[in-house]
Amino acid sequence: MDDHVVTDCRRCSDLVASRSQIVNGTGDPNAELLLVGEAPGEKEDKHGEPFVGRSGDVLTQSLNQHGIEREDIRITNCVRCRPEGNRNPKTSELENCFHHLLTEIEVVSPDVIMTLGKVPTEQLLDRSISVTSAAGTVRDTRLNGEMYRILINIHPAATLYDPSQQETFNQTIKKASELVSSGEGQTRLGEY
Ligand code: URA
Repeated sequence: MDDHVVTDCRRCSDLVASRSQIVNGTGDPNAELLLVGEAPGEKEDKHGEPFVGRSGDVLTQSLNQHGIEREDIRITNCVRCRPEGNRNPKTSELENCFHHLLTEIEVVSPDVIMTLGKVPTEQLLDRSISVTSAAGTVRDTRLNGEMYRILINIHPAATLYDPSQQETFNQTIKKASELVSSGEGQTRLGEY
């Protein structure tokens, strides 16, 4: 089932102008772990795949260090088109794209969703949150009428600006791998 793959969308006129293609999620469509970033950057826009630039290198390296291969998980973004100059997505753009993300979550049905940075964390938890202090913690939230386990992480780019954040980032990736392999990510059937 690939009805979360967007092949044509023109709802955000600025993004239609700045993108060269729509960047859909990649990886296992039945993954236990789903990673959600903010929006494609320049390299992602060029290659049509999330997290393949510098942030992607940081992410892939940490995943691999903790025994996770990209093709075994799902990686996607809140917004599927590149905002010009890597600006943050506008609220209207996040709103316009949200149903694509919700559909992808419904189809993949992951045990754990790891948010990468403030934008996906606030969108999925529907409130403002200090990601730096909440990184590494888990919140359960209802999406599409189902409970999901959200593991909050900082954005990998934050570790490039501030190397002291590397430990937090890596420890949270480690926690994701532990939650998934222990089955502790599976809150939904047992508790709800
Ligand atoms: N940053 C993101 O949030 N997503 C990407 O795909 C690349 C960089």
